[in-house]
Amino acid sequence: MHIVRYALDGRAYYGILESNRSTISRLEGSPFDGLHRTGNADRLADARILAPVDRPRVFGLAYNYRAHSQETGKADPQAPVLFMKPSTAVIGHDDSIVYPHDGEIVHFEGELTVIIGKQGRYISEADALDHVFGYTCGNDVSDRVVQRRESAFGCLLAGKGYDTFAPLGPAIVTGLDPSSLRVITRVNGTVRQDASTADLVFPVPATIAYLSRFMTLLPGDVIMTGTPAGVGPIQVGDAIEVEIPGIGVLRNDVKAEHA
Ligand code: MG
Repeated sequence: MHIVRYALDGRAYYGILESNRSTISRLEGSPFDGLHRTGNADRLADARILAPVDRPRVFGLAYNYRAHSQETGKADPQAPVLFMKPSTAVIGHDDSIVYPHDGEIVHFEGELTVIIGKQGRYISEADALDHVFGYTCGNDVSDRVVQRRESAFGCLLAGKGYDTFAPLGPAIVTGLDPSSLRVITRVNGTVRQDASTADLVFPVPATIAYLSRFMTLLPGDVIMTGTPAGVGPIQVGDAIEVEIPGIGVLRNDVKAEHA
């Protein structure tokens, strides 16, 4: 099932995108409280797609694909390397990534992204997927100059935390097996990343189990599972697409901060 969050006539709704891909069956309230159709049908063409969760907590994993760790000169981590992106970084499909006025090297990072559906603490790997609501595409946009300066002292926040640096969407798709999904990133139509989540160092169940050792996971939490090899720079005017077959294509252009 494809669940979309969308704006129509100045209000935000969740809905189920029907298989014709043009009709949205509107839902009552939040899908995390159950999928209750209102009986209203909206046209996708009349709606503006929003980020799949409003102001979520966003967790990220660094160095979660061996080939990406190698391209950055790092060994595989012994445990998931966690960071957070602020809720103000989140944008939706077709929104613009704002290139910081003082940005020097800003990279795209296409990533399978998990949306938690059920609260939990000390979740076992065996139970972990029961806590997943669904999956979406994510782009963990990162300013490498800021990131290198921070990570020399063991932290990751500002370089990944600029406004608009967490595009998510276009839909949350339920019922997927996350163990071998293809993740493709294109810049202006050219494929720059093409990998499988089968190569995750810490797969989705291990990641959920690890995170929940420290903190309660909540419905609507977002986990960006890490990027494969092939990261590279973006420039003002570029169009970045992250595609996960079975989920869809998350597309965002890049605009200047003071355009
Ligand atoms: Mg990343």
